[in-house]
Amino acid sequence: MKKITVLGGGIGGVETAIALKKEGFDVELISDRDSLLVYPISIWVPTGEKSINEVRIPLKEIANARGFKLTIDRVTQIKGKENSFFLEKGGKRTDFDYLVVALGQSKLKHKGIENTLSVCGSPDEILQIKEKIDKLVKNKEGKIAFGFGGNPKAPEAVRGGPVFEVMFNVHNYLKKLGLRKNFEITFFAPMPKPGARLGEKALKMMDMMFKNMGINRITGKKIKEFTENSVIFEDGSSIEADLIVFTPAGDGHPVVKNSDLTKTEAGFLKIEDTCQVAGFDNIYGVGDSASIEGPDWRAKQGHLAEVMGRITAHNIAVKEGKKSGALQGYKEHINIMCLMDTGNGGALAYRTDSKAMLIPLPVVGHWMKKAWGIYYRLNKLGKIPRLI
Ligand SMILES: Cc1cc2nc3c(=O)[nH]c(=O)nc-3n(C[C@H](O)[C@H](O)[C@H](O)COP(=O)(O)OP(=O)(O)OC[C@H]3O[C@@H](n4cnc5c(N)ncnc54)[C@H](O)[C@@H]3O)c2cc1C
Repeated sequence: MKKITVLGGGIGGVETAIALKKEGFDVELISDRDSLLVYPISIWVPTGEKSINEVRIPLKEIANARGFKLTIDRVTQIKGKENSFFLEKGGKRTDFDYLVVALGQSKLKHKGIENTLSVCGSPDEILQIKEKIDKLVKNKEGKIAFGFGGNPKAPEAVRGGPVFEVMFNVHNYLKKLGLRKNFEITFFAPMPKPGARLGEKALKMMDMMFKNMGINRITGKKIKEFTENSVIFEDGSSIEADLIVFTPAGDGHPVVKNSDLTKTEAGFLKIEDTCQVAGFDNIYGVGDSASIEGPDWRAKQGHLAEVMGRITAHNIAVKEGKKSGALQGYKEHINIMCLMDTGNGGALAYRTDSKAMLIPLPVVGHWMKKAWGIYYRLNKLGKIPRLI
């Protein structure tokens, strides 16, 4: 039986391992974390609506339910031409027929970034945001700045959605506590129209939300640096803040950047439509580690990472003669589909080449996202089938 090794136990890697197992391969998943962090629902950790354990699923439980082998170790190097990779504890590994790289992405490093915390970071970093918000709530006042950055070399790697979600959740949380009037919330981003990929109508709706929530907005100004208590822009102006929640744009994962695999200038894997890494017959790239080619508004999303995982499994099965049919491509599945949560409701953002919508879902949107979180956990643990 052919052996396939998946590197990275996130949303893309786990779905790939599950799909490969279904195709009847011998599968090993290697990850540095022992649990799958369900990012879309981690937005509720900073306001205490969910605990960190409620937004992660132990990989051991998924591996047992789905029948793949699990190794917890850190990948330090990939040598594609030599058909090998290296693990921190496990050393050199060559025991695979195919390799799937699903290590996620890194973030661009801004000057003074250590003075900020990202909602898209490790569980520890997400918990630090919660601790700081708890402290400000205890003091009953404060200034919080929320922002995200861009990457001109990889526009699809900008991660704005979760920043908006956490900011709107914090607004509603403070309002519920009767403290909102004591807090100054400011949003900042270097692009003139952050969120523009969702379309003009969505931008108008976001404008309204900012006004209704009394959130200040500074956009179109390049960020120079962060200090302990401020965001400084290139034009010399600044935002004073007790807490800076900032998510830089994505950058290539260091292991990918330092590998001999084919990559883009920004350090993301250059993949074919089939998810095969260009020039490497037996290596595939899935999810945020890969460069996504497509329309201007394209974005790296969890559901796309999952589609890429299933396509990879299908294509390897076809290549290995396990099933008949044509090879599949990921590009036709590019769309933006995101239930943007506000804490007291939500809005469904949907974008294709022909449609750009943001449908308000007061109250019900929040519960729909919660229900998705339950569905996702049960599905990964093999307790209920996949719905779409
Ligand atoms: C806060 C937040 C909210 C989001 N909300 C949504 C949403 O509502 N809808 C949506 O579609 N998308 C959403 N996304 C995007 C989505 O989560 C990502 O696109 C998706 O997680 C990408 O999956 P991945 O497997 O490529 O990367 P990841 O999920 O980041 O997984 C990478 C994995 O690789 C492991 N790893 C990294 N380096 C190493 C190493 N050296 N050795 C071994 N293992 C390693 C990591 O521990 C991790 O388990 C959100 C993202 C964030 C951060």
